[in-house]
Amino acid sequence: MTPPAIRIENLVKRYAAPKGAKGEDAAGKLALDGVSFDVPEGSIFGLLGPNGAGKSTLINILAGLVNKTDGQVDIWGFDIDRHRRNASRSIGIVPQEIVFDPFFTPFEVLENQGGFYGIPVRERRSEELLAAVRLSDKRNAYARTLSGGMKRRLMVAKAMVHSPPILVLDEPTAGVDVELRRQLWEMVTALNREGVTVVLTTHYLEEAEQLCDRIAIINHGQLIANKPTRELVNMAREKIVAVTVAADLAAAPAHEAFAKVEQTGPRGVEVTYDKDRMSAGQVLAILQEQGLTIEDVTTREADLEDVFVQLTGSGA
Ligand code: ADP
Ligand code: MG
Repeated sequence: MTPPAIRIENLVKRYAAPKGAKGEDAAGKLALDGVSFDVPEGSIFGLLGPNGAGKSTLINILAGLVNKTDGQVDIWGFDIDRHRRNASRSIGIVPQEIVFDPFFTPFEVLENQGGFYGIPVRERRSEELLAAVRLSDKRNAYARTLSGGMKRRLMVAKAMVHSPPILVLDEPTAGVDVELRRQLWEMVTALNREGVTVVLTTHYLEEAEQLCDRIAIINHGQLIANKPTRELVNMAREKIVAVTVAADLAAAPAHEAFAKVEQTGPRGVEVTYDKDRMSAGQVLAILQEQGLTIEDVTTREADLEDVFVQLTGSGA
């Protein structure tokens, strides 16, 4: 078995209380409450959770920007306390907040970062990285003149300057338009195909579902799920059969085995059922027994949103 790209064990972060805080606030904010999980090498791993769940805190601990209170973190096999330098060299992080010196050009931003990592000038990949994020034509523009989307792409290039085997993106597509989101997804999958392990946080369920092969869900600083995406989606037990019948319905059909029945039109009805208890075939058989002639059928799987709501007891 290959060791995980990242190993997180019993990670705890308590932010210090502001001076003069009273009552409950005096203990500070427990942002991570004993989180443990591994990120498998080669995966696209999604860390999903609502705002305030603790995602950025975890990412910032990986980045060395926040000190953990307790627990252990290994990045690429390097303990972040004992081997911080090697751990940092193994990971590239795109933080949630974009910060650039506005007077540097994209090329300079990447060259400076190369210098920061001590990469000899001849071995730097600034041009190649600019091409990869489609910013070659902005090579010499001031960073402050770039659009939000361009800045984000430049951040990805900056995170890859030292060719780390792991790339972490904190909310890469929050507040980003559809086109840029598509570009970011393409970049992420292309890097992953080249062998880069990718971790991304998001509160978009659909994004995690489409992009990630494994998803962990965090809520109130605790890990409440960590599974292959398919398994997680399968956790939602309810399935829906939508049927169109041959004649107008006098009333919506009813049966004790159905979880929910909704009439969607004069001849349309949607039956929600527990897939552990029955099959779509049985649903159709019951409808036929009730004298309905079925003309058309579609089924819908529960999606990640359903699972998320079940697990967190809240909407996304
Ligand atoms: P997420 O990224 O999932 O939205 P964060 O990790 O940013 O969540 O925040 C987790 C919790 O920790 C929130 O309640 C937030 O208010 C709190 N928090 C984050 N940063 C700090 C900080 N520097 N000082 C105190 N509390 C913080
Ligand atoms: Mg965050």
